Amino acid sequence: MSLAGSAGVPPAAKAGGPPIKSGAAVPASRFILPVSLRNQLIAEARSAFPHECCGLIEGVRNGDAIEALRLHPIRNLASEDDRFEIDPAEHIRLLRTLRGTARGIVGCYHSHPNGKSVPSPRDRSEACEENFVWLIAGADETAAFVASGEDFRPLPICAP
Ligand SMILES: [Zn+2]
Repeated sequence: MSLAGSAGVPPAAKAGGPPIKSGAAVPASRFILPVSLRNQLIAEARSAFPHECCGLIEGVRNGDAIEALRLHPIRNLASEDDRFEIDPAEHIRLLRTLRGTARGIVGCYHSHPNGKSVPSPRDRSEACEENFVWLIAGADETAAFVASGEDFRPLPICAP
């Protein structure tokens, strides 16, 4: 029997209090994106052209708001121009870096080099995690969405 096996259970978990709710319990109603990060996304989209840029969004959830604090560019593993595939090794590395902090990976981003800032059919087929933000840089504008059920719903972007 290993000591480590029981050391991870916090005493509060056995205390019989109210059930611990995850951040996903409150549906997100806005996405807070600083102008500097929006500009970073536009610059990454331009330099990846004609391929899609992609990355992960570090941030915090605060009630119904999801706030972006940093964008982490991730290598796009996809070979086709019109899709993206986040390198899972880099995804895991970032999860480890943020573990134990108040921050988490609140979403992902990618660009549609010649398209609109709306989820493609392929994006829709991959939307599964509730309240996980999808930030999409189209040719002319940037928009955010969250998975809701089997589809996306738009998430208004606001300044901090
Ligand atoms: Zn897409």
